[in-house]
Amino acid sequence: MEEIRVRIAPSPSGNLHVGTARTALFNYLFAKKNNGKFVLRIEDTDAERTSQAYIDNIFDSLKALGLNWDEGPDVGGPYGPYTQSERFDIYPKYVQELLDKGFAYECFCTPEELEAEKEEATKNKQAYVYSKKCENLTEAEKEKLRAEGRKPAIRFSVSKAQKAFHDSPIIHFEDLVKGDLHQDTSLIGDFVIMKSNGAPTYNFAVVIDDMLMKISHIIRGEDHISNTFKQILIYEALGAEVPKFGHLGMILAPDRSKLSKRHGATAVSEFVEKGYLTEALINFVALLGWSPSDSNEIKSLDEIAQDFRIHEVSSSNSIFEYDKLNWMNGQYIKKMDIKALTKLAKPFLAKYDLSELTEEQLEKVIAATREPITVLSDLTNDVAYFFGKDIVYEEGVKEANIDTEQAQTILKYFDSQLDSYDFDNEEKLHEQLADFRAYFKEQGIKPKVTMWTVRAALTGRTHGADMGVILEVLGKDKVKYRIEKAIV
Ligand code: GLU
Repeated sequence: MEEIRVRIAPSPSGNLHVGTARTALFNYLFAKKNNGKFVLRIEDTDAERTSQAYIDNIFDSLKALGLNWDEGPDVGGPYGPYTQSERFDIYPKYVQELLDKGFAYECFCTPEELEAEKEEATKNKQAYVYSKKCENLTEAEKEKLRAEGRKPAIRFSVSKAQKAFHDSPIIHFEDLVKGDLHQDTSLIGDFVIMKSNGAPTYNFAVVIDDMLMKISHIIRGEDHISNTFKQILIYEALGAEVPKFGHLGMILAPDRSKLSKRHGATAVSEFVEKGYLTEALINFVALLGWSPSDSNEIKSLDEIAQDFRIHEVSSSNSIFEYDKLNWMNGQYIKKMDIKALTKLAKPFLAKYDLSELTEEQLEKVIAATREPITVLSDLTNDVAYFFGKDIVYEEGVKEANIDTEQAQTILKYFDSQLDSYDFDNEEKLHEQLADFRAYFKEQGIKPKVTMWTVRAALTGRTHGADMGVILEVLGKDKVKYRIEKAIV
């Protein structure tokens, strides 16, 4: 059986978008499931919109998501180079082949002439299709145009390819995701495959690259369906085997419009900067079109690969529910190995002097604050009181929990007990705190009120990490300092 080879071919005109990550993921999963190869090709032919920073971002984001490629610009492979701009000398040969076979022709029309054609079509309320004015120029006519200094672009003759390979102008293909798809080729104008400056266009370069890289299956967004018909005709004109195609539904924002910056983050790196875990993000992205065969949606990449079947991918659009992503991210934060989580949390704690705590203490702090956060950036605020000497009271907390007579009584008694507390022994501390609460309970003060008071004095808040952890990490001196500062 022929080897399964798939690819992701991002254009580096921006940071890796979650939509491209989803396409990359489904290709990766398809390769994994079928013992195939996953290829990365950088389509950087639009020099003006391309930048090295975007290329680096694409590499880093795919790697961070665990979507490692078997062949690509950095790792090489048998069908390189894998960067389109390094392949420019490959394309002319295939242009020539199409010219020789009569499936392509030189077009000398100027941009102004083409613009006039388009305007005419608009005026007549017709869809614009190139007039084919240059298809049957004689050698003498071409010479004359050349002598005028015109440089030809090369166009693909849609009608010739259609007639050579299809009985009807309506051509079909069986999409792996969407089933039968068809297009009336008379509505496809003869498109440019090579510009007058010698640069190949997307539809042409992509076919040559996929053909030479022996890509067997092309899985990509449904926005490419109209391109697929053009590409099929090019494959056929070159006598090449046409790969199988699968087109994925689009990813829409919760308001059903195109997902864009105004809805929130869209680039993988932006999500990471906001404190999303790549494991959660890739799991969430997989669910944009795929669903597990059991009811458990939380799955690792390997588990998803086992369960993935391209034919079962939904052909409709998916909604990018940020709320669901937040929930899922929270689940991953809750379960993550504490050492790994602490490492990921550090960039979000840059404003604190981390040398105040040992690594072990920091892990305790993270373990005690990881619930109920949904993104790591929540930690920045949630761990604030573990650092520095003084605390900042949240609004209303001082008035309600410190300034009352009862609160002052509680704090004074707590202060008097501190010397007997065992700050190095978490278990013992918990017992001592229980005794402390019981003491006031006997006097009719609810334990939670007692603890709110102490918590408010130590953290400036009424909610947060476990009190035992707070006392232990702050240590006796800081605890005493904050308690005594709260006593008036
Ligand atoms: N460079 C194209 C894009 O980013 C690739 C499309 C394709 O997969 O053929 O849209």
